[in-house]
Amino acid sequence: MPELAPYGRAAARLRVERGAPGVADSSIGGPLLWPADEPWPHCREPAVDGHGDLPAMVPLAQIHARDVPGPWWPDGMDVLQLLWCPFEHWDPPAGQADLCPVVELRWRRAAAHAGAPLAGPPEPSECWEPEYLPEPCVFTAEYLVDFPYREELPPELRPALRQLILGLDPEGKDGITRVSGWKLGGWPTWHLNHPHTPVCEPCGRPTTLLFTIASDDVPGIQVGRWGELRLFTCPADHTHPFTADLH
Ligand SMILES: [Zn+2]
Ligand SMILES: [Zn+2]
Repeated sequence: MPELAPYGRAAARLRVERGAPGVADSSIGGPLLWPADEPWPHCREPAVDGHGDLPAMVPLAQIHARDVPGPWWPDGMDVLQLLWCPFEHWDPPAGQADLCPVVELRWRRAAAHAGAPLAGPPEPSECWEPEYLPEPCVFTAEYLVDFPYREELPPELRPALRQLILGLDPEGKDGITRVSGWKLGGWPTWHLNHPHTPVCEPCGRPTTLLFTIASDDVPGIQVGRWGELRLFTCPADHTHPFTADLH
């Protein structure tokens, strides 16, 4: 279906399995390469069930460019780190999703921290919500070209797309558009509401999907109603704040 080609976006789906990742590895729920002179992030937001003062955030993902090369890497950056506060939050600050963990994102240059002593994360001091505490996992990347949800495509393309999907899977399981799971790049789904691409606050550009955090038994994560938490970022400047969206 050549008419779809202009809408294709590179994506890497992460096939996650339990493991024992080290600080230098790519991981879900593993230890992070953290500069000794950089304070560990703590959450300052009010949580639904209340949490004590400034709980330490927990590692969610660390991704090295060498393991998942692709167009999502800003110039010069080769490590992406995600942390979150493993509680649900009321009325979160701009850019964070409602009733979700508060997410922290860091881009790094691994070489800048080579040989430097690494600070370990603080010990958890509270009763965390288990569905937000990932088990340590490693992953392998599976590359694909992802296509947008049908409502983001011109109406005249939709009937042929439907035929294509049915032709590949008689039950109509869509393996063409907004492929689900842990994912870098690609397109988000909008099957629960109308598509709404977040706009980058500082520059007004439409953001693009950087990363999808999926509900998944393997790391033991559940967001929303077995949903996905998506992080949208500015295509022009990686220092502009991300927008999180729960679906
Ligand atoms: Zn919090
Ligand atoms: Zn921007």
